[in-house]
Amino acid sequence: MAAVIVHAGAYDIPDHEADPLREGCKKAAQEAHKALTEGKSAVDAGKMPYSRCPLVTSVELAVCVLEDHPLMDAGHGSVLNAAGEVEMDAIITDGSSLNFGSVAGVRNISHPISLARMVMDDTPHVMLIGVGANLFAKEKGVPEVDPDELVTAEAKEAYQTFKQYSSVVDNVFNIDNHLGHDTVGAVAIDLCGNIAAGTSTGGISLKRVGRVGDCPLIGCGAIADSGVGGISCTGHGESIAKVLLAQRSLSTLQAKNGIDAEGALSESLGYMLDRVGGRGGAIMVTKEGCVARHYTTKGMAWASVSKTGQLDSGI
Ligand code: ASP
Repeated sequence: MAAVIVHAGAYDIPDHEADPLREGCKKAAQEAHKALTEGKSAVDAGKMPYSRCPLVTSVELAVCVLEDHPLMDAGHGSVLNAAGEVEMDAIITDGSSLNFGSVAGVRNISHPISLARMVMDDTPHVMLIGVGANLFAKEKGVPEVDPDELVTAEAKEAYQTFKQYSSVVDNVFNIDNHLGHDTVGAVAIDLCGNIAAGTSTGGISLKRVGRVGDCPLIGCGAIADSGVGGISCTGHGESIAKVLLAQRSLSTLQAKNGIDAEGALSESLGYMLDRVGGRGGAIMVTKEGCVARHYTTKGMAWASVSKTGQLDSGI
């Protein structure tokens, strides 16, 4: 009953981005599902020189595919901070052990999700930030990329656009502006019923240098507990952090006895909008292997492969 769902951010998606985003999501979901059902390692899948648990690998693989997509705000395509630089956050969680690894404010690497996994698997810690995270990447032999390689024309355009606003972070999810907030994420369940989740982002255009959003915080940007479900979130990071969106959605699902996954997401996203005025979206896989998504923004690119093997996608 392996199943996967991925997202590429919740926002007002312009028409010309809809197809490439949807195709990118489909590719990520299919590759992850294939890796999962075949029990392939990431090395076999040809993406990363790194692999252990096939389940976590499938989530890492899906997020890597999305991090490589230039229209998505993660890895290549990350938005720019107030200094015009890329600072990325990522988290990966293993719902069988409740272990997780995350990085914040990391620079000059292509796949923050893989570094987050190394934090989880190869250190006694759960989070590394900034210089320390990059130092760890160097130690692990993660290839450094030229900072400009991560920067796209769209990210530069968003930077120029948001320069006009004074309170960028508060405005982004609450105005009809489509630029600059398409974080990526994936959640998967394997044939044994274990669940993993991951999220990766460049954050929000013109964020203050050193700003960390919800993404690398457990229970905010993602969470997984194989006894209940797994979640990856996107949206206004400060709002997500204030209401612990991922944890809240999981608790709501548990209170509903695992029934109505979309209802659980809808309730917690509704709470976030009512209580702190923030919009966003989330994807979920339940312990029964059901996939669900919900968003309070105008759109969210997503794709899933269900436990029956059916591929679905939407915007
Ligand atoms: N949640 C991310 C952040 O605030 C942004 C996003 O989801 O697009 O950093």
